[in-house]
Formats: sequence, structure tokens, C-alpha cells
Amino acid sequence: MGDPDEVDDNWLNGEEVACPECHERLYRLDHSPLLDCYFLYCDSCPMRVDVSYYDNTFMTIADALPSQDRTYATLMAALEARLRRCDCAGRFRDSAPRRCHLCSSVLTAISAPSGVDVWPGWWTDETDTASLEEAFTARYFRTEDLWEQ
Ligand SMILES: [Zn+2]
Ligand SMILES: [Zn+2]
Repeated sequence: MGDPDEVDDNWLNGEEVACPECHERLYRLDHSPLLDCYFLYCDSCPMRVDVSYYDNTFMTIADALPSQDRTYATLMAALEARLRRCDCAGRFRDSAPRRCHLCSSVLTAISAPSGVDVWPGWWTDETDTASLEEAFTARYFRTEDLWEQ
């Protein structure tokens, strides 16, 4: 503390966490407001769903919220009710326990998961990890066919 640059560099509270089971190196990060999306996490596996602010169904749901109750929690509950189940039959939820993507163990170090994202530890490495990121995104992000019919 005391050095303002240092504080600014970590404004999303990024911190390495290790999986309690397989010891995979992971990285927790507050969800960046610069991302034009919300992530909701499966309550039974490491999958997440990527809900874009520009998704038509998302906009319809957000617009339908009562004008006197447009809090984050209300929005998340409305999204959760409409999202298609995960392939594992779990439900996508803002406050689902965050999991290790390798072994699915719950990361108990993240006690308040709402608004927190978990990334592989190498995500922040200086080396070029573009192909790893692509593979991770393809495997663990649902970005299409999000909604129940
Ligand atoms: Zn693990
Ligand atoms: Zn799942």
C-alpha cells in the first residue's frame, strides 16, 4: 500500500488462487466493467455462459424489469430463470460456487463468488497464450443458444 500506481494496477483485485484439490494455478478477478457481458457460472461444473449486453433476449429481459427494482440481483435472478440448462443439467447462476476448470473442485477461497471470475493462472502471463485462450474459451464458455425456448 502507499504507492498509488500499485493500487491502480490491481483495481479488479486480481489474485492467484490454487485449486485445493489438484493445485492448478488459477487467477481470481472481479468481473471487469469494461467487458460488455455478464458471466454466469454453472452450479455443477466449470462452464460459464457469456451473456452479451447486446444480446436481444438479454435486452428484452432487462427492459422488462420493474422500473423501481433494477438492481444487479434482480437482473441476475431474471437471467438465471431464462438461461438454458448446462449440458451437465446444472443451472447457470451469478452466485454459483466457482470451480477449478481442470478437476471441478469448488474453490472455497472464493467465499463470495458473485461478480468474481476465475481464469487459468497462465491468462496473465506475459508470454503469448492466444491459442490456449482460444481453446479455453471454446471449451468453457457458452456463447450461443443461451436461452430456453
Ligand atoms: Zn483442480
Ligand atoms: Zn454444468
